[in-house]
Amino acid sequence: MSDEKVLLQANHIKKYFQGRGKNVVKAVDDVSFTLKKGETLGLVGESGCGKSTLGRTLLRLLEPTEGEILYNGQDLSKLSVKEMRLMRQHMQMVFQNPYSSLNPRMTVLESVRAPLDIFHIGSSDERFEKCREMLKYVGFEEYQIYRYPHEFSGGQRQRIVIARALISSPDFIVCDEPVSALDVSVRAQVLNLMREINEQRGVAYLFISHDLSVVKHVSDRIAVMYLGNMVELAECEELYRNPKHPYTQALLSSIPIPDPDVKIERIPLEGDLPSPMNPPSGCRFHTRCRFATERCKTERPAFGYDENGHGVACHLCEQKG
Ligand code: SF4
Repeated sequence: MSDEKVLLQANHIKKYFQGRGKNVVKAVDDVSFTLKKGETLGLVGESGCGKSTLGRTLLRLLEPTEGEILYNGQDLSKLSVKEMRLMRQHMQMVFQNPYSSLNPRMTVLESVRAPLDIFHIGSSDERFEKCREMLKYVGFEEYQIYRYPHEFSGGQRQRIVIARALISSPDFIVCDEPVSALDVSVRAQVLNLMREINEQRGVAYLFISHDLSVVKHVSDRIAVMYLGNMVELAECEELYRNPKHPYTQALLSSIPIPDPDVKIERIPLEGDLPSPMNPPSGCRFHTRCRFATERCKTERPAFGYDENGHGVACHLCEQKG
């Protein structure tokens, strides 16, 4: 991929936390990938697999233990606190819960305007005008912008949060389970808005979700994480048509299909997700994998790509790294 198309490159990112005593929680353990400009990369996996930690680490809301994050070719780990603060206007985050993401004492207008004030973007009149336009863009009427968060529904609040994330014209937004706290009836509205923003404004997303059917609607490519490792990464259609990793195969087989005539083989995932404090040796998935061999218990599979850019970490389908 040519360098001008690359927005973000994560190289061998590790994020460890100190647990009790000498225990170390390896929440993210050697993850590498590239995000193109304007691309939506879905990031899926069970709760506790490290996907939210990875999202926060990319924005340096958490400091990486090891690894390099290149954003438009610039190494974020080398930026000072002040430089990183300025960089944040280009990199935003939308959290899961729109109820706790907004200050209840600030009006909608004040909340959306806050990043412009922080980054000193435009004059006072320009800031007001920009917020008005942005709130209109995400579906609010003029009379609503002086109201407080409690006067809105969950879906409306998440649209306010999205407006706030967009107001500083970022190129990249980490969306951490942005619709899971919302009623099913408003999920589609928020997802459609996010897709529209991606198409019209070219904003790239890292779209984190435990729900594969949601990720399918918005992603260009999808990455699958298991216990701190990335185990598969492919174009969206390719991943659904031809999942290669046994974990991805099991996840996909568990998606409910609304057509009773369509029969698919369910692949049960046995046991719980092991603790990241004491992950299994070799391939971390071997304790739950129906194809595991002796080799899988001792040797960690390398992540490699095929000629179509479909990446996987499994001894069953070894590919070039
Ligand atoms: Fe299963 Fe072995 Fe592949 Fe891991 S490396 S997913 S245990 S077959």
